Amino acid sequence: MSTLADLAAGMSDGSVEVVDLTAPLSEETPVIQLPEPLANTPGLRIEELSRYDDRGPAWYWNVLHVGEHAGTHFDAPVHWVTGEDGPDVSEVPAEDLVGPAAVIDMSREVEEDPDFLLEVEHVRRWEEEHGSLPEGGWLLYRTGWDARSEDEEAFLNVDGDGVSHTPGISVECARWLAQEAPIVGLGVETVGTDAGAAADFDPPFPVHSFLLGAEKYGVTQLQNLDRLPPTGSIVMVAPLPVEDGSGSPCRVLALTTH
Ligand code: MN
Repeated sequence: MSTLADLAAGMSDGSVEVVDLTAPLSEETPVIQLPEPLANTPGLRIEELSRYDDRGPAWYWNVLHVGEHAGTHFDAPVHWVTGEDGPDVSEVPAEDLVGPAAVIDMSREVEEDPDFLLEVEHVRRWEEEHGSLPEGGWLLYRTGWDARSEDEEAFLNVDGDGVSHTPGISVECARWLAQEAPIVGLGVETVGTDAGAAADFDPPFPVHSFLLGAEKYGVTQLQNLDRLPPTGSIVMVAPLPVEDGSGSPCRVLALTTH
């Protein structure tokens, strides 16, 4: 009771800040592009129903046509074959969607190498400085890639051979985060939780494979992670509870203090 009263007081006096980690969603928002013959997801398309006109004189409303995995979005365990018996997006316990955030900043390394992969030793080094990854929390992986999110070409960064050069996580680190680390979820700034080149890893797409297989969660296309300290923030991830859904565009907010 007094904890929430303190929080309310902090929000009212400005010592607690709400940071929006969500990329705005528009018809231009980039989505992942898989090679032929794989099916691709559409991004967002907005169909207008009325806008204060004959179709609805006093109201404006639309229909959203959107892939589950468009923009800032949530991956439920059932998204991947390794998690096929796990929860769909409506079955994810709400308490897993709110938790302490650990922010690891590799933006300097990624500036040198867009194919940079986070390794267990990077997380261990972070833990030496900031303490263990939080039980039931979220690891938020800052790469600086959010600066590219409004420019599809720069964001997907595909070369002449069709390979995407975007940062990610090594196979061993993905396995470790899934099976040994106490976190429940991973948030990234890129179009997916795996590296751009991860189709050729063993296993392919190891973050999806291990994390979702361990009934943990992924969130993509975050921004404003530079406004969070390494520890001490609370993140809230809010996908739509679509029954049987594999994921959902979502709003991701953080509470932080200065
Ligand atoms: Mn996804």
